[in-house]
Amino acid sequence: MARYIFVTGGVVSSLGKGLSSASLAYLLISQGYKVRLRKMDPYLNIDPGTMSPFQHGEVYVTDDGAETDLDLGHYERFTNVSAKKSDNITTGKVYSDILKKERKGSYLGKTVQVIPHVTDRIKEFIINDISNEDFVICEIGGTVGDIESLPFLEAIRQFSNEKGLKKSLFIHLTLVPYLKSSDEIKTKPTQHSVKELRSIGIQPNIIICRSERPIPTSQRKKISLFCNVPISNVIQTIDVRTIYEAPISFFNEKLDKQVLNFFKLKPKKKANLKPWKNITKQILSKKQTTNIAIIGKYVNLKDAYKSLDEALTHGGMVNNTEVKLIRVESDKINKNDLKKTLKNISGILIPGGFGKRGTDGKIEAIKYARENKTPFFGICFGMQMACIEFAKNVLKIKNAGSSEFDKNCFPIVGLIEEWNKDGDLIKGTNKNLGGTMRLGSYVANLRHNSMIKKIYKSTSIRERHRHRYEVNINLKHKFESKGMIFSGLSPDNRLPEIIELKNHPWFVGVQFHPEFKSRPLLPHPLFSEFIKAAKLKK
Ligand code: GLN
Repeated sequence: MARYIFVTGGVVSSLGKGLSSASLAYLLISQGYKVRLRKMDPYLNIDPGTMSPFQHGEVYVTDDGAETDLDLGHYERFTNVSAKKSDNITTGKVYSDILKKERKGSYLGKTVQVIPHVTDRIKEFIINDISNEDFVICEIGGTVGDIESLPFLEAIRQFSNEKGLKKSLFIHLTLVPYLKSSDEIKTKPTQHSVKELRSIGIQPNIIICRSERPIPTSQRKKISLFCNVPISNVIQTIDVRTIYEAPISFFNEKLDKQVLNFFKLKPKKKANLKPWKNITKQILSKKQTTNIAIIGKYVNLKDAYKSLDEALTHGGMVNNTEVKLIRVESDKINKNDLKKTLKNISGILIPGGFGKRGTDGKIEAIKYARENKTPFFGICFGMQMACIEFAKNVLKIKNAGSSEFDKNCFPIVGLIEEWNKDGDLIKGTNKNLGGTMRLGSYVANLRHNSMIKKIYKSTSIRERHRHRYEVNINLKHKFESKGMIFSGLSPDNRLPEIIELKNHPWFVGVQFHPEFKSRPLLPHPLFSEFIKAAKLKK
């Protein structure tokens, strides 16, 4: 029987609810329990797929093809449990489901209302697609006090009441600031945030206090007293040196212990913190650095390439080097200063992207990597750009381009209307932009004697996709005759999935997003090998 844990946030956003939830999940899993992590987002988009990374950070893609909140990436990285479509819901999705039902007449005769219809739909989400999980951890996006999150809070309040005593637990994460001028730790914002939560009818069982410095017992007592929580359940979380230290820190603060105590459970086995201790040591130890340039449109936004940044860190860990990311705005690249911009760079990575802006700069950088034998890794849009660069500068197809941003070009990259998935023909559509890309996990077969086969040590792989356009397979022979090999193809041989360059130390483009599957405890081979090659670059 599943027990439910609801994680809310107070005072300010970005306190690390996702990381706290993911760390708690790891601790429970490592003590022998089965855990599922879910996220409720209070915005009106059906999913974050149509939002710019400037608005929402990275869009994380699951195996089953959902475009989800980036917190689901944290969940997967910490727990190694693959997230599913059924693990993320938004206000938009809730309303869209309800309105579809209303049009069908499913509520005939009734007035459709927030309570009970919206809250019922949210409660359905909480319990949907659960089998033998011991714990379901649901994170509620936003901050308590926001208008948008009210229906979610009301739904979890009702849920807990309906489930009965001790079947669900509320964790509230707040900020406990330190005021330099008075040299004091302040508990008032936490008191106010809990007051707000209680006014909705939710009494938190555990309060996690995020703080720059240790919270003295006197202040913890104060939080305990004013917020009506036993002092043992006032858990501090001090800023960690690397996010991978978070499970260790929560274990030391006994978060998992207090959660199990609440449900009157005991660990089935001892928590294993060794992997996180090793990773933390590895990351913090002094070592050489490898400079990798990431050339994209959203490079200055911290969360825009979250999984990518993590995957590169994992690659560095395997190679015992610190990966230093040099973020280069692609539309600021100037052909004449390229040498200067890319001085001291050991590897160039072009991540996924959409639209015309910055494509000229990306093509210049790819040309530089190809000609100067700098290790190059192109992901999704990055692979498409590498093919266009090759077509322009090696195959001499002057107007080579992508129909995504140039309708009059020679389409090296174009729209695919149909493709095969596991034998079924799926129709693509470009009419609606939301949720209509080639999304989720697809098989690619790898060519014998290719570099990619050596990297994966396999002839067949499954990776996650998120794209609408494809490299034109009809050009395969032309490309290969000049040294760009299509070394991975979809099982029907119609879609180029991977390209690599002969006579180059490391030049790989992939149509999928390997970063979504890299785990700190299981780094992705493409990132390990890319960093290895970059480390060798003189
Ligand atoms: N814009 C490209 C496409 O739709 C690439 C997408 C991406 O990089 N994720 O195919």
